[in-house]
Amino acid sequence: MRPFTFATAGCLSLAALWLTGASAQAPRPAAGVALFEGARLIAGDGGPPIDDSAFLVENARFTRVGRRGDVQAPAGAIRVDLTGKTVIPALIDAHSHIGYMKHLTSGAHNYTRENILDHMHRFAYFGVAASQAMGSDFGEMPFQLRDDILAGKYPDAARFLTAGRGLAPIAEITPDNMRQAAFPVTTPEGARASVQELVPRRVKLIKTWVDDRGGAVKKLTPELYGAIIDEAHRNALRVAVHATGLEDAKQLLRAGIDVFAHMIGDVDAELVSLFKEHPNTAVLSALGGPHRAVYAPWLNPVHPLILETVQPDQIKRLQGRFPQRNPAQLKRSTDAWDRLARGIARLSAAGVKIGIGTDGGGQQGDQFIGWTMHAELENMVMAGMPPARVLVAATRTSAEILGQDDLGTVAAGKSADFVVLDANPLDDITNTRRISRVYLRGRQVDRAKLRASF
Ligand SMILES: [Zn+2]
Repeated sequence: MRPFTFATAGCLSLAALWLTGASAQAPRPAAGVALFEGARLIAGDGGPPIDDSAFLVENARFTRVGRRGDVQAPAGAIRVDLTGKTVIPALIDAHSHIGYMKHLTSGAHNYTRENILDHMHRFAYFGVAASQAMGSDFGEMPFQLRDDILAGKYPDAARFLTAGRGLAPIAEITPDNMRQAAFPVTTPEGARASVQELVPRRVKLIKTWVDDRGGAVKKLTPELYGAIIDEAHRNALRVAVHATGLEDAKQLLRAGIDVFAHMIGDVDAELVSLFKEHPNTAVLSALGGPHRAVYAPWLNPVHPLILETVQPDQIKRLQGRFPQRNPAQLKRSTDAWDRLARGIARLSAAGVKIGIGTDGGGQQGDQFIGWTMHAELENMVMAGMPPARVLVAATRTSAEILGQDDLGTVAAGKSADFVVLDANPLDDITNTRRISRVYLRGRQVDRAKLRASF
C-alpha cells in the first residue's frame, strides 16, 4: 500500500512541475524544414559513418543526406547543431507483445487502447520507431489505433504494427496466455479462412506457432502450417513462426516460411545450407529470455533509463529474480544462452538475414517495455556480432522484414525517425542508451512530458 501511495504522489508532482514549466518552453518545431548539422551519422545502411554530417528534414521526411557544407538549408529552415553527437535511425523491435503488461500484472484484462498507447509512448521514449506485436492482438481496436498513430494523431507514439490474431494449434490456446487471442487451427480450410480474415485488416505478417512445448501440446502439422504459408503468400503476406526445434525449422524452411520469430534452439550444417537456399528467410533474435537470467548488470545499480520509466516495485521484483541465484536454474539458463549465442553467431557469419526482436511484453512480466530493445542490442554483441552489424539488424533489416519500406535508414525519402546519442555505439553498443533526443516523423518526441507521465 505504502509504495503505491508514494509512487502515485511522486508522479503527480512531477506532472504538475512539467505543466507549470510547459508554457515557458518554446514550441517544438512542427513538421516544417530543418537542417541537422555536425553529427556523426550512422545511416543504418551498413556503410561507414559520416563524420560532420548534414541532413535535411522536410515535411517529416529526410530529403537530403550528406556532409556538412554539401547540404544547404533552404530559406526559412531551422538549423539544429548536433556537433559532438551521434545519430542513428530509430530502432525497430520486430517481435513484441503489446498491451498485456501493466505495472505488476500481465494478461488480456490489461489489453486496452490506452495501455497499448502507453507502451507505444515507452517505445518512442527509448528511441524505437516501430514495434511489431506478434499475434497477441484481438478485436478491431488494434487496427484502428495502428492507423491513428500512422496518421499522426499521437506524435509521441512509436508505430504500432499488428499481425492481428495469430494462428495456433487448439492445445496452445488457454485463457491465461497470449495465445488466447489466436485463431484455433484444426483443418487446412479453417487455416486459410483465418488468413483471409486478416487480409482486409491490412496486416503485413501472419503469426503462427509450431512447438510442442516439451511434449505438452500437439503442434501444428506440416499440412496445417503449409496451408497457412500458402494462403498468406497468395495474398502477398509473410508468415512469422515461433519454432525453436531444429527439425521443425528445417521443415518450415522447406515449406517456404518467411520469418523465424525467435532464434532456433540448435544450428547444424544442414540448417545453414537450407538458409542459403532460402536467402529471403529471416531470423529474429529474441535472446533476452535466457540471457537476462544470467546477466543483468543494469539492475544493480539500476540503469537511469529504467529508473525513469519503471515503478520501484517492478524493479524490485526483477532484482529478486535476476541474475538467477539457484545453481541448477543458473546452469540451465547459461546453457540455453550459450547455445543461442553460438547459433546466432554461426547464422550471422553465414550471411543469414537477421533482425532484432525482443519478445518483450510477454506473460512473465519480466520485461521493461522499451528497455529490452537496448538490452537485446548488447545481447547480440555479446553473442559475437560486431556493433555495426547489430545496428543494421536493428534498423534497415528489421524494417525490411516487417515491410516498413520508409523506416530503417537515414536516407532521402524515408520517414525522419532518428535518435540523437551522446556517445558512439560503434565504440560500445551500450551507448545506444545515452539518448539525447528522439525524432519520429520529423518531430522531436517530448521525452520530458513522457517521463512525467510514466
Ligand atoms: Zn513472442
